[in-house]
Amino acid sequence: MSDSVTVIPARSELAPLVLDSPHTGMLFPDDFRPALPMADCMRVNDWFVDELFGAGPDHGAPLILAEFRRAYIDPNRDTTDLDLEIVADGWPHPVKQTEKTSRGASLIWRMIDGDKVIYDRKLSHAEVTSRIEQYWRPYHAAVKTALDDAYAAFGKVFHINCHSMPEFGNAVWGDPNIRRADMVIGTRDGSTAGDAFTAVVVDQLRAAGYQVAINEGFKGVELVRRYSDPAAGRESLQIEVNRGIYMDEAAITRSDRFAQTQADITAMIAAVADYARTQVSAG
Ligand SMILES: [Zn+2]
Repeated sequence: MSDSVTVIPARSELAPLVLDSPHTGMLFPDDFRPALPMADCMRVNDWFVDELFGAGPDHGAPLILAEFRRAYIDPNRDTTDLDLEIVADGWPHPVKQTEKTSRGASLIWRMIDGDKVIYDRKLSHAEVTSRIEQYWRPYHAAVKTALDDAYAAFGKVFHINCHSMPEFGNAVWGDPNIRRADMVIGTRDGSTAGDAFTAVVVDQLRAAGYQVAINEGFKGVELVRRYSDPAAGRESLQIEVNRGIYMDEAAITRSDRFAQTQADITAMIAAVADYARTQVSAG
């Protein structure tokens, strides 16, 4: 355990399944120093997702939690996806920006909601390097270790990368004011997980009554991309849970639907753990 990552080990017989929640951390280190009000910077967390998926360890799946806030550094981005507009000139490392940069939501976020600028200064190279080395890298090391340990034990590993999304869309995300699906499963268009694993998740959630979309709007980003290799038996998928089915987004409180949504996610985790065990015992 450190101030960057917490690993909750399996509380029952280990399954070839790993869960991670990269956006539920609550820590803003002292050198964050935003110009924007802290309340705005705090809002972008995936509230309560660590609790929604908290039963993972009961079903043999380690659960990895980031302890730092997403607005400080985002572990679901590659370190090359750096917005140089907020970094002092002459950054010496390779940069490969993505569409996230235009939304202000790359490795180190420049804006909240695509329009509220976080800093009134440029970050020094030392600040950026510190965020990567002290926070991003330990988180990734913990995820990689858990996945590699399961893979070494079983020859396969299944990974669920856990998130939540605002109930309604946003112009910056291309879906202004549209109510999103209850859950969106992301496999980067089938490149990070096989159809069978995806179907276990989707079928379980649909059977529980949820409207589930696949690769619509939220296809999965760095954590499912980086550690997946379906041909080698490493499958990763992202789940985005609609905040409207478990919380009051304005008040940042659990809603009266929280317990049912959590119970349904727990049942899904149990089904996936069973599926994962079958896959390795079948050889
Ligand atoms: Zn997230």
